[in-house]
Amino acid sequence: MAVVKADLAACQGYANCVVAADDTFDIDDDGIVVLLKGRIPESDRARVEEAARSCPVSALVVVDDGEAE
Ligand code: SF4
Repeated sequence: MAVVKADLAACQGYANCVVAADDTFDIDDDGIVVLLKGRIPESDRARVEEAARSCPVSALVVVDDGEAE
């Protein structure tokens, strides 16, 4: 299991992450990313990591569960 974390202060609302993985990311009314899932099963990890990499301001990270704190 992996964990996705978002730096809300860094997010600029480009929505690349939503396009890449709309089951995991959304955008709120203020244009800031919302995590729909904090925990990512291994079967979704590659796709969510790809979505995180697509963020132009590197606001998203995927880490192994247990390394999140
Ligand atoms: S791609 Fe990055 S900047 Fe854009 S909404 Fe997602 S987290 Fe925010």
